[in-house]
Amino acid sequence: MVNVKRKQRKAFVSTEQCVACGCCVKVCPLHAISVPKGITAVVDITKCVGCGKCAKECPASVIEIQEVQP
Ligand code: SF4
Ligand code: SF4
Repeated sequence: MVNVKRKQRKAFVSTEQCVACGCCVKVCPLHAISVPKGITAVVDITKCVGCGKCAKECPASVIEIQEVQP
């Protein structure tokens, strides 16, 4: 049997380790990640498509792309 439901991928930030540099914000093609009040990066998972650009760009390597159930 083929599983017709495709798993979705989303970005997750380890907020304790985020240095709020904003690099991820600049590269996200969907504007799904922001750093509200300059505190820590926050992902809008309704917009995120899990492309991984932010994770690649993060100098602190605190963004992980994880599979989630749709
Ligand atoms: S994984 Fe892609 S879409 Fe999601 S927040 Fe990162 S750059 Fe944006
Ligand atoms: S690039 Fe990494 S360290 Fe910088 S704001 Fe984004 S998640 Fe935080």
